[in-house]
Amino acid sequence: MRGALIGCGFFARNQLHAWRDIDGVEIVAICDQDEARLTEAGELFGIARRHADAAEMFAEGGFDFVDIATTVGSHRPLVEMAAAAQVDVICQKPFALNMGDARAMVEAIAATGKTLMVHENFRWQSAVRAAIDAIRGGAIGDPFFGRVSFRSGYDVFSGQPYLAEGTRFIIEDLGIHILDISRALFGDVDRISATTRRINPAIKGEDVATMLLSHGSGVTSVVDCSYATQRRPETFPETLLEIDGTGGTLRLDAGYRLTVQGATEAVRDVAPPVLPWAEQPWHNIQESVLLIQKHFVDCLRSGAAPETSGQDNLRTFALVEAAYLSAAERRSVALSEL
Ligand code: NAD
Repeated sequence: MRGALIGCGFFARNQLHAWRDIDGVEIVAICDQDEARLTEAGELFGIARRHADAAEMFAEGGFDFVDIATTVGSHRPLVEMAAAAQVDVICQKPFALNMGDARAMVEAIAATGKTLMVHENFRWQSAVRAAIDAIRGGAIGDPFFGRVSFRSGYDVFSGQPYLAEGTRFIIEDLGIHILDISRALFGDVDRISATTRRINPAIKGEDVATMLLSHGSGVTSVVDCSYATQRRPETFPETLLEIDGTGGTLRLDAGYRLTVQGATEAVRDVAPPVLPWAEQPWHNIQESVLLIQKHFVDCLRSGAAPETSGQDNLRTFALVEAAYLSAAERRSVALSEL
């Protein structure tokens, strides 16, 4: 399976490492408008075919799928180029700038019969996956309450300076993952209420968001995110869980400790491995990149729809839009409004 990658920036390096670890997959071409980044990635991963222009790369062809690792502003034109070239697509989150673009991108690929998956990797973190599997397997009966929490004071701005510049920050960049974990655990959402704050004066967007979700399944969940939380020990980039069900409770605590109290009680260390190319504390995210890319390849081979297909991700993306609307208008928002 031959792939091409567009956007050789901060995060793409993880994606290139992960592709190299998957049997039967080769990245045959890379593209970046920034010549220095293109050269650096090409040299590091031994990829000779390098393009500054994505249109030129698609015109030359020679690959079955494209991995779009650029920031959000370029996603729609690049997905549309991929549709015209009739290749499968994996695209980074946030998928789109707005719902209209997101729907248009899903429709463009659907018309080709190809696969579109959003790189929504947090639900693929092995610790989070262990919790999802336990809940889906009925370990605590029917869940009725969940808290999905990400609170940190880690400096994400030095690696990703663009995060300080947008008028939207934590819900769009990080909350999107945490909202997606809540969907993976409890299903789709009917209604959301959100409040936001900006604590760090050096950034433009909100760095604290607290969201209350009513799921169609009857679960109420609280999704709370902060990059203004000075805690010791720092838990970046762990997502913590507290779930109550009709038959018990599940907790995913700091340090990757999973406690399931159901018919029996089990405490497990679900710490992720540190892959040879990974570094702490990012290793859980880096492992999830490998796991989600393996899932993409498995789906292409079997013809199954990916768990975070473009179609599926419309519902996570709608939660982001609804959360901002709720915070701006100080009211709860039905997802049917979007
Ligand atoms: P970045 O700015 O470091 O890298 C993006 C690269 O894309 C740059 O080198 C830029 O020159 C290139 N680029 C932009 N438009 C292009 C175009 N039209 N053609 C060719 N090259 C183009 O950004 P990043 O921090 O690597 O983030 C990239 C994406 O990954 C973002 O959407 C971000 O939200 C996402 N991300 C995801 C995770 C995760 O865990 N899933 C983590 C970090 C970042």
